[in-house]
Amino acid sequence: MTKRALSPHTIAAQAGHFVNASDGALTPPLGPGVTFARDAAYDLVDPTRSYARSGTGIVDVAEDLLAQFENAAACQLHPSGMAAFASLLRAVPSGSTVLLQSQIYWGTTDWLRHNAARMGLTLVEGELFCPSTLTTLVSEHRPALVLVETPSNPWLRVTDIAGAAAICHGAGAKLAVDGTAATPILTRALDLGADFSIHSATKAINGHSDLMAGCISTNAPDDPWWQDMAADRVRGGAILGSWEAWLLVRGMRTLPLRVDRMSATALDLATRLAGHAAVDQVLYPGLADHPGHAVAQAQMAGFGGLLSIVVHGGAQAALAAAGRMQIFHRATSLGSVESLVEHRHSIEPHSGIPEGLLRLSVGLEDADDLWADLDQALAG
Ligand code: PLP
Repeated sequence: MTKRALSPHTIAAQAGHFVNASDGALTPPLGPGVTFARDAAYDLVDPTRSYARSGTGIVDVAEDLLAQFENAAACQLHPSGMAAFASLLRAVPSGSTVLLQSQIYWGTTDWLRHNAARMGLTLVEGELFCPSTLTTLVSEHRPALVLVETPSNPWLRVTDIAGAAAICHGAGAKLAVDGTAATPILTRALDLGADFSIHSATKAINGHSDLMAGCISTNAPDDPWWQDMAADRVRGGAILGSWEAWLLVRGMRTLPLRVDRMSATALDLATRLAGHAAVDQVLYPGLADHPGHAVAQAQMAGFGGLLSIVVHGGAQAALAAAGRMQIFHRATSLGSVESLVEHRHSIEPHSGIPEGLLRLSVGLEDADDLWADLDQALAG
């Protein structure tokens, strides 16, 4: 039989066709052990295991599964999305320039603004989803690393990953893509030419709002940056705990199913919201009039569960609508089973986010129930 690529649904449902070598269990063992024995000759009983900071079996299982989703040669898990991102930045040689997309997840921008100078890095920010801006900035600043987020949070801007990779590589830069809002189920950034694919696995990859994790993947595991990151994770101790890794594997077994459902409901809600009298603007790449729609259609297998609306009447009207919601929880984060609403301007008032913007993370509830909740909240 010729080998054909398996669907993410099949890979996920079977946790990568997992069968435990010692007892045949179809569920991976948690394996909470931190230290591992040596025999009488002082050889490790299992030569790959000495101390949990260097890795554990369940972290390996989770990384293998993520690498399959990403079609990656290697994946490293970290204790949060920010820890995965920070690990990459620590591998960038001091004295280099880092080019960062503006108006992305605030935590990423905030971390780099605080740490770039003390790490000996020059930080340049720009609207990198725009190819001509990216071309100008890479040729002007010759960065070692370019970081884009697509779709971006909370603006839902879409970057053409293949186009950006060609521009970056032409100028000798590596491209890292934060695809948290897409997940590897909707966009495989490495297949499109990115050097690193990063996700906050705290979001849809785990999907149940009950653990923090982050992952970074590559197709060049021999690259010195990747080797540095692997060594730094052991030395610096940024390893995911066994319990989190076990829960993450369990969560990922339904990832494609959840992402399909969230995407379908988000598209339905975005379409209805676009015609709502109380809404000035809907930001969702699944809508035909979104500026990134054609690129999203080409590089995404669905448009994801994240959308933003700009409520007519500014901050007061947006906060009042959020306050009336009865199904959407008023809480930060995204990608989980339960739907969330957030007024990002209240969190980052100086970043240019419209005062009337509400970010919606669409979960697994019934679409008509969610619509009824939004409709009554917006009607006032
Ligand atoms: N990237 C994006 C797009 C995010 O939205 C977030 C968190 O909201 C992160 C990275 C950081 O992930 P974590 O909270 O797991 O550190």
